[in-house]
Amino acid sequence: MMLAGYAGKLLRVNLTASVCTLEDVDPKIARKFIGGAGYSAHLLYTEVPAKADPLGPDNKIIFSTSPLSENLVPGGGSVMVCFKSPQTNAWGESRCGGNFGPDMRRAGVDFIVVEGKSDTPKFLSVINGCAQLHDAAPIAGKTVYEKTDWLEENILKDVARGSAMTIGPAGENMVKFSSVMLRDRAAGRGGGGAVLGSKKLLAVCVGGNQKAGHGDKKRFLAATRHAMKTVRSDEMRDGFHKYGTIGDMAANDEDGDWPTKNWKSNSWGKGPELFDMFQEKNLVRANGCYSGCPIACGRIVQVKEGPFATPVHEGGEYESISAFTAFVVNKDMNAAVHCDYLCNDMGMDTISSGAVIGFAMECMERNLLPPELLGGLDLEWGNPDVLPKLLKMICNREGLGDLLADGVKVAAEKIGRGASEFAVHVKGLEGPAHDGRSGKVLAVAYGTANRGMCHIHPLEGMAFDRGKMDWGMQKHGVRDPETVGRWDEKGKGTDCALLQDGMVLPDILTTCKFMSYAGLSPDLWLEMLNATTGWDMTEKELIRVGSRTLNLQRLFNVREGLGVADDQLPSRVKKVPEFGSYKDTPECGIRNYDQMLKEYYESRGWDLATGIPNTDTLENLGLSEYAEGIDVK
Ligand code: SF4
Repeated sequence: MMLAGYAGKLLRVNLTASVCTLEDVDPKIARKFIGGAGYSAHLLYTEVPAKADPLGPDNKIIFSTSPLSENLVPGGGSVMVCFKSPQTNAWGESRCGGNFGPDMRRAGVDFIVVEGKSDTPKFLSVINGCAQLHDAAPIAGKTVYEKTDWLEENILKDVARGSAMTIGPAGENMVKFSSVMLRDRAAGRGGGGAVLGSKKLLAVCVGGNQKAGHGDKKRFLAATRHAMKTVRSDEMRDGFHKYGTIGDMAANDEDGDWPTKNWKSNSWGKGPELFDMFQEKNLVRANGCYSGCPIACGRIVQVKEGPFATPVHEGGEYESISAFTAFVVNKDMNAAVHCDYLCNDMGMDTISSGAVIGFAMECMERNLLPPELLGGLDLEWGNPDVLPKLLKMICNREGLGDLLADGVKVAAEKIGRGASEFAVHVKGLEGPAHDGRSGKVLAVAYGTANRGMCHIHPLEGMAFDRGKMDWGMQKHGVRDPETVGRWDEKGKGTDCALLQDGMVLPDILTTCKFMSYAGLSPDLWLEMLNATTGWDMTEKELIRVGSRTLNLQRLFNVREGLGVADDQLPSRVKKVPEFGSYKDTPECGIRNYDQMLKEYYESRGWDLATGIPNTDTLENLGLSEYAEGIDVK
């Protein structure tokens, strides 16, 4: 049956048997979960056995699009990559910008499910519905940029529109926070690169000229024009375009939203001068990551000369630069830009990379690292020279790098002697560059996000508490943010749950979340979705798809043995900062996290003792059939 808005095909790639098969997209599952992190939740939950080794053949990794993966849709270039994470042993997902999403659909597929394990390195090409596995000997062991250049020259040269995602040497070495790269853009978090590395699939190329049919093309074009106009006329769009995400650095520092020195503080006072340095020395120009982006928050950057000389590339994003400045108190912006580039080329998540180095610097400060492991490295706080050295050691799993390559949780357990006290992570995923002390919705989001300590999947809570954004969710029960104090705790658990249900939609629709900061709300996503699929979905139903998806991901985690204990925040992240602008602000500490979590569970309809969704909750969301074997009350 033709499914309007979809290419209609799921490509299954079995690496053990070296076989590719095309299947039809299931219309019932499509209506229930749409695409992206939603449809993938159904696939991973039903196909990956409980307790499967994330780096074994039973794990699967899914590249997914949605009916809105179109260049005409604001943010529609993205692709979602979903898998069981080797960092958390739980639900893993990561979005990547660029053109890969629409190029997958031009190749004729909505989903690519990679399963099994190859004996020898392979890469996959999917061009106009024809899927092939190739010997990857020419690209094995190469960096991301080298692999991408080779694939573009040898596989995609004659394809009208195509993209290549690759892993780097870090993925091949199964560094647990290795990323899946689209040249400079990353599906960075959670270790998708390691999952592909374990399967010996080094790259996926897609492209062609297929077109998904639209239910009502005229209506779809009108809806996308309206959405584009909304974004283009939003004042947030101008700020993002002019200054990029790094433009938030000074304000975040001032507002206590900039984790500093392995989270000892949430402000540093260096944000303004570092940003000025970046603008003056590193910035070349703004850039859109996919053809048609109305914001173009990307930055083309370089380091012209000196020890950190770095070619022109796309980088300089807020999270990455914060990871190599504030996290480790490095004041050399050239070093930070260089480290971001190195991580991309080696295929490592920048956030986790900066976080593990900050953790290592604190271990050094406390004399917890034996000299033979250090191998002469000078891990003094703020030392810019050690950063690239240690990154390369992590990528190659050498010495201290091997210990850090499994992330702060595992490294702290191995080091012992109290190291877990300052290993900042939730569920095993290191914290990003926003601070839940200064906006308590974010604190709850950090604890409860299915993929671990994440600022954006599904929700950047700080934008509600501090930015006073409601993303059109007040009509679904969220309070008016203007009436809410950012230090307050009461009500934040409920706000968080309601906001997550709406803000997971871009992850399901595989669109860029920044469009939501520039005026796109669920009603506008809905109009585009209904126009292209021919559905008559209501906004309430759309939000329920969000809730259903989050609850199914939760069941995935429950089945892996996660529960209330895994929704806790690291103790350091709850304490009043040790130094900086907020050290004398007691309300900056998190006073009663348990109460916020209780409120969150109640709002979600989860059992307070176990954190498992209740029978009624599952029934209301149409998820009862997924709960077999789970102790549901
Ligand atoms: S806003 Fe930025 S990340 Fe989002 S699609 Fe545009 S360039 Fe890419």
